[in-house]
Amino acid sequence: MTLYPMVRDGNWWFSTGLTPDEYQVLPSTVETLQRLFDERVGIPGVHFSNLTWHSLWRANIRMVDRYRNGRIFLVGDAAHVHSPAEGEGMQTGIQDAYNLGWEIASALRGAPDMLLDTYEDERLPIARQLLESTSARSQAFMRPSSITQTVTNVTTSKDAFADTTQLSIHYRGSTLACDLDEATIIRAGDRAPDAPGLHASNGMQVRLFDVFRGTHFTLLVFGCQLTLQLPDVPNDFLRIYTIVRPGERIAASDGALIDTSGHAHHTYGITNEALILVRPDGYIGLTGGSLDSDPIIDYLRGTTGR
Ligand SMILES: Cc1cc2nc3c(=O)[nH]c(=O)nc-3n(C[C@H](O)[C@H](O)[C@H](O)COP(=O)(O)OP(=O)(O)OC[C@H]3O[C@@H](n4cnc5c(N)ncnc54)[C@H](O)[C@@H]3O)c2cc1C
Repeated sequence: MTLYPMVRDGNWWFSTGLTPDEYQVLPSTVETLQRLFDERVGIPGVHFSNLTWHSLWRANIRMVDRYRNGRIFLVGDAAHVHSPAEGEGMQTGIQDAYNLGWEIASALRGAPDMLLDTYEDERLPIARQLLESTSARSQAFMRPSSITQTVTNVTTSKDAFADTTQLSIHYRGSTLACDLDEATIIRAGDRAPDAPGLHASNGMQVRLFDVFRGTHFTLLVFGCQLTLQLPDVPNDFLRIYTIVRPGERIAASDGALIDTSGHAHHTYGITNEALILVRPDGYIGLTGGSLDSDPIIDYLRGTTGR
């Protein structure tokens, strides 16, 4: 067991390598903290004063083996706790909740029960990877001999641990991920990336994150042939945007976005026509290279029942 004296007004925990028993017999004073820090961390020029709070802290590292039991769902720390070494616990819990939220809302409107099962399928592997990477990082912090090096690495460079931005998390292979063909570089299950510099027909400049924001599905139609025959669906369920390059003619300008600087085509890897269906949680549900509405209708019916 490693002890971390916590510096309340700072951002770092320093491993002393003491056991809790060793810690218990030490006087809880700023002098003790200073001595431990100097002996075991040894970064020169660090002086502690005005110790207002300190605590013996133990990392809980554990997770559940199921995220769902009937009508009960676990999210956040209730499902997975780990060392805060990467500062990712809260982020992961919020993503759990966002992944599950639209599915519960859909289930309440009649979506098939299997939609709720995809929550565990997609999120439990993420927690497992997180426990592994945070445990590895914790171990690195706990080695007193390497603490200075570890702190230096973490603060000055991209280190060799997991992607702490979590932007590379994806659900490729999920039952909710459907690639109809190879028309796009981006794949179903990927996080739908942003693209700035789109111009709406009313002259407004928007970015993709603006059109995704909300609890609706978003269908991006790359191409000017509006052959899609989608049933009339409410705006809070599905929003459709046609994305064209400057100069391309479109049949109707409503919902058209001109990709002035080409960001959207480039980021999504579109060379010709394509459909991208984005789920309410901002992940891609379906990709395809032909502007055919049937797969979209099938996907939405299959997942949401609508
Ligand atoms: C030292 C430290 C540093 C951290 N740093 C970061 C960081 O930099 N970035 C990051 O993303 N994460 C960080 N985390 C992790 C983050 O704090 C947690 O992952 C996050 O707070 C978990 O949120 P939660 O809502 O799942 O659980 P909690 O925050 O634990 O919320 C659960 C709530 O439920 C209440 N509750 C419990 N039982 C009951 C009951 N029976 N009835 C009613 N209410 C109940 C609790 O009182 C609590 O308010 C850190 C954690 C620690 C310990």
